[in-house]
Amino acid sequence: MITFDKLKIRESLTTENIFDLLYEFGGEPNAAAFGLISATICHNPPGEGSKKLYYYENTGLFKCFTGCDEYFDPFQLVIKVAKIQWGKEFDLNDAVRWVAQRFGLSGDYVESPDEKLEDWKYLTNYERIQEITLKENNIILKEYDDEILNRFNYTVKIRPWLDEGISQEAMNQARIGFYPGGDQITIPHFDSTGRFVGLRGRTLCEEDGKLFGKYRPLKINKELYNHPLGMNLYNFNFSKNNIKLMKKAIVFESEKSTLLYKSYFGLENDISVACCGFSLSAYQIQMLLDLGVEEIVIAFDRQFEEIGDEEFKRLKTNLIKLRNKYKNSVMISFIFDKNMITGYKDSPIDCGPQKFLQLFKERIVL
Ligand SMILES: [Zn+2]
Repeated sequence: MITFDKLKIRESLTTENIFDLLYEFGGEPNAAAFGLISATICHNPPGEGSKKLYYYENTGLFKCFTGCDEYFDPFQLVIKVAKIQWGKEFDLNDAVRWVAQRFGLSGDYVESPDEKLEDWKYLTNYERIQEITLKENNIILKEYDDEILNRFNYTVKIRPWLDEGISQEAMNQARIGFYPGGDQITIPHFDSTGRFVGLRGRTLCEEDGKLFGKYRPLKINKELYNHPLGMNLYNFNFSKNNIKLMKKAIVFESEKSTLLYKSYFGLENDISVACCGFSLSAYQIQMLLDLGVEEIVIAFDRQFEEIGDEEFKRLKTNLIKLRNKYKNSVMISFIFDKNMITGYKDSPIDCGPQKFLQLFKERIVL
């Protein structure tokens, strides 16, 4: 079974994660000097409250100034939302697990085949994963109506991405579009067989982009096109045959990195996937193992400023944990920019194909 350490999980939550939570819960959050301001969703359903739920970055606590009139942490918020929006009585353990699953944060994992089933049973308890059907060892994510994809603009040139090196061909394959209503680049997510299971957006709004720049599920006409990111690998449907042939996969954090990879090395050589988070879930690794991979190359962002700093140590610990967990089934190697030829928070593919190849050559097998 998987056990989660409340403090560890809470520590690893970023303000961006909190923003995502509030956004998904319908709080329509905004940035503030001290953290975030959201509509109250703690004591009322989304759309009914005023912007009186504050999140303080320094303490990691929320305060509701109306109905609740108290301080509480992110887990308490999940408990409140579970009750109001999902009709579920969560205890603290449920909430911690839910948050950990949502952001792919690792708990301490003790493998046991019988208990694994218990985990799946647990997962089916929570609203968003409720729509997943368990089929033998496979899970089938809820499919959205892909009609929505026909409503986006595919003729407009997505300048910022073209400038960064992503080819039009790569964008066409991935059906990257533009949603003028939200000023967003649209990134559809497909499952291993190409079913449309999620839609994420990358805002072009400079201010939002800086603060919460990455990617968020899109909400259009009240439908939130989200999916449990740890239960799928982005780009897998396009690269799986190559991965099978080459018995090797490169795992990036973000969707965009896979697009860059295939732009530089060709669609026909694409062996990239993105886990869309800071960690690779057991389920994602199993997807790759099922293809018969002999090596999984972890190509995460350079999430440390200097060798030996706190972020560096955290990253190293996570990578070693991953290696230890899977060393008997597959070789796991890491792209690790120890010479700092890329920038802070860069993906290894962000600085062009030459630097990527250099990093790839120097990858580390722990
Ligand atoms: Zn409240």
